[in-house]
Amino acid sequence: MSNTDTRDHTSLRTPIVAVLGHVDHGKTSLLDKIRGSAVIEGEAGAITQHIGATAVPLDIISSIAGELVDPDDFDLPGLLFIDTPGHHSFTTLRSRGGALADIAILVVDVNDGFQPQTLEALDILKRSQTPFIVAANKIDTVPGWSVNEDSPINDTYEAQTDRVSSRLDESLYEIIGNLSDEGFSADLYWRVQNFQRNVGVVPVSAMTGEGVPDLLTVMMGLSQRYMKEEMEIDVAGPGVGTVLEVKEEKGFGKTVDIVLYDGTIREDDTLVVGGQNDPIVTEVRALLQPRPLAEIRTESRFENVDEVGAAAGIKVAAPELEDAMAGAPVRVVRDRSLDEVVGEVEAELADIAVDTAEEG
Ligand code: GDP
Repeated sequence: MSNTDTRDHTSLRTPIVAVLGHVDHGKTSLLDKIRGSAVIEGEAGAITQHIGATAVPLDIISSIAGELVDPDDFDLPGLLFIDTPGHHSFTTLRSRGGALADIAILVVDVNDGFQPQTLEALDILKRSQTPFIVAANKIDTVPGWSVNEDSPINDTYEAQTDRVSSRLDESLYEIIGNLSDEGFSADLYWRVQNFQRNVGVVPVSAMTGEGVPDLLTVMMGLSQRYMKEEMEIDVAGPGVGTVLEVKEEKGFGKTVDIVLYDGTIREDDTLVVGGQNDPIVTEVRALLQPRPLAEIRTESRFENVDEVGAAAGIKVAAPELEDAMAGAPVRVVRDRSLDEVVGEVEAELADIAVDTAEEG
C-alpha cells in the first residue's frame, strides 16, 4: 500500500448497519419503516438507490429525528442498512475476517421477550465484537397504548397513562434483565453514558414509527463517537468489498451484488472475486444501480454508473462469475500486482473456511 499522499483522499465512509433478531420480532418491518420515512423526508432524488442496501444520508436522519439531531454534531455521512436482515446473512457477510456490519440493531418484541434466535444473535454479536443497540419493538401493542405516529419516545411516553407506561417499563426491564443474564450491562438508552460499556435499549414501533427518531439518533451518535477512526478510508484507493449475492440478470448473465466497504470500484477495473474453487480474475463490464422507481421503463431496471465509492451496494456485471460465492471477498486490482491481490483474496477465503468449520 502506498502511504505517500493518502491524506488528500481520506474521507469518512458510511457505517454499515445490520438488523438481527428472532423471527417475527419485526426486523423487516423496521427496515421498511426506516426506508419509508427516509423516502418521505427525502422527496425526489435525495435517497440514493443501492443494491442490497439502503443508504440514509445524515440530512434525512436529521429531518426524521427533528430536535434530537443537530447535523453539525456529525461528520459521518449517514448510515447504510443491509436490506437482508437476520443472522444468517450477518454471519456469511464478512470483511477481513470480521463482520461486514460495523454496527447492529437487535430487534426484540417487547411482549415476546428473549427467544432462541435472540440468544443466537447475541452470541454472534459477542463473538464478532460488533457494537449494537436493542430495539424493543412493538410498543404500540401494549394494552391501552395511544399512538403518536413517528414521534420521539419521550413525547409518546408523556402521552400515555401511568398504567400504560408502567406496563411498558415492566417489559423493558425484563429485556434489560435478560441482557444482563447474558453478560451485557444494559439500560434504557437515555440513561447510558458510555455505549461502549453499556447496551442502549430503544423502545420503538416499526408499525407506528414511534421511537424511530431515537433509534436513528442513537445509531448515528454511537457511530460518530466510537467508530469514526474505523470509518476513515482512502476513497480513491482500490475498492474492497463482500459479495452479498450471485444473480443471473437478463442481458448481463451472472452478476454479483456486492457491498463495498473501502475505496472505489470503476468501470474499467480488474477484479479478484472469491470463488468456490479458486479466486476469479475478471474485468468489470458494467456497474449497475437500480433505477429510481419513477423512471423504471421496460428495457432495464438498472442504470450504469462509472464509479462508486464506499460504503455502497452495487451490482457488478463481469464475465466468469459462475463460481462466485455469497460472502466471498471482492478486491479491485488497479495499480497493484495481480499476484498480490489474488494472494489477499486466497487468504481471506481460507479464513472464511476455518470460521465456517468452527461454526459447523
Ligand atoms: P421479521 O421476521 O423479524 O422480519 O418480522 P416482520 O417484520 O415480518 O414482522 C412480523 C409481524 O409483526 C408482521 O405481521 C408485522 O406487521 C408485525 N409487526 C412488526 N413490527 C410491529 C410493530 O411495531 N407493531 C405491531 N403492532 N406489529 C408489528
